[in-house]
Amino acid sequence: MKKTLIKTTLIALTAMNVNAQNPGIKIADMDKSIDPRDDFYQYANGTWIKNTKIPAQESRWGSFNELADHNNDNLKKILEECAADKTAKPGSNKQKIGDFYHVGMDTVKLEKEGYAPISPLLASINKIANKTDLLKTVAEIHTQGLSSLFTFAVDADEKSSNDNAIYFAQTRLGLPDKMYYTDAKYEKIRAAYKKHVENIFSLLGDKADVAAKNSETVFNIESQLADGSMGRIELRDPDKQYNKLTKVDFFNKQANLDLNSYIVAAGATAPFIDVIVRQPLYFDKLNQVINTVSIADWKTYLRWCTAHQTASFLSAAFVKENFSFYSATLQGAKEMKPRWKRVSATIDGSIGEALGQIFVDKYFDAESKKKVNTMVDNLFTAFKERINTRVWMSDVTKQKALEKLGKIMRKLGYPDKWKDYSTLDIKNDSYVANVLRSNHYEYKRMIDKIGKPVDKTEWGMSPPTVNAYYNPSYNEIVFPAGIMQPPFFNAKADDAANYGVMGAVIGHELTHGFDDQGAKYDADGNLKDWWTAEDMKNFESRTGLVREQFDAYVAIDTLHVNGQLTLGENIADLGGLTMSYYAYKLSLKGAKSKVIDGFTGEQRFFIAWAQGWKTLSRDEALKQLIATNPHSPGNFRVLGPLSNMKEFYEAFNVKEGNKMYRPDNKRAEIW
Ligand SMILES: [Zn+2]
Repeated sequence: MKKTLIKTTLIALTAMNVNAQNPGIKIADMDKSIDPRDDFYQYANGTWIKNTKIPAQESRWGSFNELADHNNDNLKKILEECAADKTAKPGSNKQKIGDFYHVGMDTVKLEKEGYAPISPLLASINKIANKTDLLKTVAEIHTQGLSSLFTFAVDADEKSSNDNAIYFAQTRLGLPDKMYYTDAKYEKIRAAYKKHVENIFSLLGDKADVAAKNSETVFNIESQLADGSMGRIELRDPDKQYNKLTKVDFFNKQANLDLNSYIVAAGATAPFIDVIVRQPLYFDKLNQVINTVSIADWKTYLRWCTAHQTASFLSAAFVKENFSFYSATLQGAKEMKPRWKRVSATIDGSIGEALGQIFVDKYFDAESKKKVNTMVDNLFTAFKERINTRVWMSDVTKQKALEKLGKIMRKLGYPDKWKDYSTLDIKNDSYVANVLRSNHYEYKRMIDKIGKPVDKTEWGMSPPTVNAYYNPSYNEIVFPAGIMQPPFFNAKADDAANYGVMGAVIGHELTHGFDDQGAKYDADGNLKDWWTAEDMKNFESRTGLVREQFDAYVAIDTLHVNGQLTLGENIADLGGLTMSYYAYKLSLKGAKSKVIDGFTGEQRFFIAWAQGWKTLSRDEALKQLIATNPHSPGNFRVLGPLSNMKEFYEAFNVKEGNKMYRPDNKRAEIW
């Protein structure tokens, strides 16, 4: 089961890859015919953009993907070694990884099985005769880590971060967002989606007319669930999503739902008194819809939920059908990724700390961890100085901000304590069965947390991941081993390049603790207001400038970036880059930066950032990103923060009349 916890990440992509030889910035990727003061993104990346094609299997391509590909090659070696190792002890991580990979690659077996491995779940659904059965079966689906109807989760209480709490939330929909069900601009996507749902039912053996009717049923149910759901903007508001009430009151209020039967079937047997409801209106809506939709139609919806979420682990026909809608139609990919890459991603997503442990032993360099740790120290020092020098903030709020900064925990590389997978059975029986058992293992770990204190040593990403996050409830910044590699970090590169990318990434995550969302959590990770009204007003007028700036950017056709949706990420980019710039200056200890390749250190710092965000996107992927993703497209992550920074103006002599220039009263300076 996916955690409902709010985590602000660096990117939303799961993909990541890199040219490990070339330390620092890549001069050959630049286009020096462009004036850096007019379009710094093109200046830093123009030649790369001109000469690079998105691989047919991808919908986006950039630095993150390059590094991910590099990690993938290393993961492949591990997977093949484990699969070939006949001496691995039964029950060991090696045996689990080897068998998982072996059965995942066995396409002959997969074809023979068709959808047989999910037939036990489909049989449970088929037996549903009444509403109590329905809720019990939803629980059974949840215990396998699949989503349906609503989300049930155990996670840190947002107002008491050391205690675990029970959360009820809206479910995930088949389309990327609620507006896809109604907005005129998604009409074509809706038609393709309905066809896709129909095709999945056909693959489950339904006759053509039945499959078409079932698709309509699913669409109608999901449309009603979408109608009761929160949209992307509201989902960034933690206050709106903290609604604590007693279990008794909540269960009575949603009397049509029979949550008592649900909770028993879900195995949540440890006693609890309160629940936190993330989207109360969703449950009010569900409480009605549960009675107006027939049991037969609910069974159709549950069949869809099950087949849809397991399709990519079944036979080729299911995999292709899933690809054709989710990767081709929605994201513009032309070809499927090779099977080994998909299986590798599945294993990383299922038993990531088993795979990650070997990955770290083989490919992670202790020296990199040490150097990045020193950079983190310098970023903290720079951030502290910046807080102290903020003219718009009162001393009393500054003290609170400093306290929060001082308590931010750091996690670098990999967990100190690895997950123990000894109770998890991974066998050579079926690919999807291994996925579902791994999901169940995570589900069981989650359920076992009821009534226990929060274990803040846990990680939310696997070590090979090329990404990073800030977790407000833990007040921590986390950098997996996967991202501490070129081009984000290179032990052989000069400081300017490392601060320009890795330093700014560290600063980005630190700033998330102080963006429009993170600022609502205190030093102990509790959702609690620590600002004076006046300081909050000043903060909001400054962040308002960033919102307006990004609202004005046109990403594709007439589609603008959504300044409110992307506000937290844009604040984090601006703050992170500023902080890292001053941390870089600290590393110079008062000396003038060296000129390399004709660029000062200050100039290389900004070029490195711009090259870190080089991105090519298919139109479809870009449109979905704009509609649903809290991160701005790569080019605006360069143009946006830089045109706010006087440090950039100084480094490249930006003046009024240049396109990157913003007048003083429009320029945002926050952290
Ligand atoms: Zn972020």
